[in-house]
Amino acid sequence: MENKRCFANRFADYKGALSTGQGNDAIVPTVIATIEKILKKVPSDSNDCDGGLYDGPAGVAYMLYYVSECPLFAQQKDTYLKTAKQIIDVSVRYVDGEQDKNMRAAFLLGGAGIYAVAAMVYKALGLSDFVKPLTKFRNLWEVCAPINFLECGSDELFVGRAGYLCAALVLKQKLEIEILSPDQIKAICRAIIESGKQYARKKRKAFPLMYSYYGTEYLGIELVWQSVDFLMNQEQNCNWPAELGAMIERENELVHWCHGAPGVAYLFAKAYLINKKPQYLDTCIRSGELVWQKGLLKKGPGICHGIAGSAYVFLLLYRLTGNSKYIYRAQKYSGAGGFPYECSTATPSSFLILSPNPPPTPLFAEFLFTEEFKAGSCSVSSVYSLFEGLSGTVCFLVDLLQPDKSEFPLLSVFV
Ligand SMILES: [Zn+2]
Repeated sequence: MENKRCFANRFADYKGALSTGQGNDAIVPTVIATIEKILKKVPSDSNDCDGGLYDGPAGVAYMLYYVSECPLFAQQKDTYLKTAKQIIDVSVRYVDGEQDKNMRAAFLLGGAGIYAVAAMVYKALGLSDFVKPLTKFRNLWEVCAPINFLECGSDELFVGRAGYLCAALVLKQKLEIEILSPDQIKAICRAIIESGKQYARKKRKAFPLMYSYYGTEYLGIELVWQSVDFLMNQEQNCNWPAELGAMIERENELVHWCHGAPGVAYLFAKAYLINKKPQYLDTCIRSGELVWQKGLLKKGPGICHGIAGSAYVFLLLYRLTGNSKYIYRAQKYSGAGGFPYECSTATPSSFLILSPNPPPTPLFAEFLFTEEFKAGSCSVSSVYSLFEGLSGTVCFLVDLLQPDKSEFPLLSVFV
């Protein structure tokens, strides 16, 4: 039976040689051309800044910053950084005027992420002004320290405390300075744990720590070994249900960064990096096998629930194991040499539909700017965005050029 969510992977697996035609010569011009197209689509009006790093213009600013850090784009660096500054300045003005204090503390959907990227861009440009957004970022600590600061759930990555901590970690990595004091970090961690205990008690769950977000009891907890192992035991054939206790239907399973193995893999990668237990690495490797089978997603090129998000798992596994097989697999998924798909009709329910009939191999980015694509995409804003659109894909392509340094955007497990 045909899988609703992904195309069958008809690629031959690694046999000791990397793909040809996927070197710097092919990828660098693709990245540059894709960025040009993205920049034509980014709104420059402060009324259009919704979505934060996830699918707002701020994510594009991060992508430009990330590309500018790669030595292969030294010629473009200055232009990319200046453009990033223009974009992020508009977002900063927007979020400064945000009335909802809680959204100001959000990492992927709100102000914390915008201030963090502004600080990175300013610092990269050599501007001492980077302390201004950094100070705004630091001041948000008070907002997210109270245990139940958000009604919808205060602990997750997009708007909650885990996101704020994650942003602080990214900033520390990129700016090479301390962002929060050890006491501030501990206080946030304690709030996350206390909140998880309270919820587990209230709901009488067997899980040591439990969290909910908008009423859904998501599986996704970090830092506590008991919880890591509990989560490891929730595996169902190399994948995890999005919700506690749900059974995965094979024909319809979610294999996305946002829901499933390509996201959960980072938890076990981090666990393995910290304590070197082989079962954590094995779990990651198994996730990678599932992604190789089911990761050619029908929802476009992005990192959240698209093909670049799947392919990032291969770069993660390459960094964990050093095995070139994973570079090969990432190349196959990359589309830098063209996806093995032909464009077919699009439906409103999908970001991008391609039919898996080889061999025509148009550069995938071409299709994304056609009228046909626009007619079929859920949201035009997604086209340029960091998590659903091409900006995340660009980050992935740049990481394919520097696999030893590759990191999922804004969420490196290697720091
Ligand atoms: Zn998603």
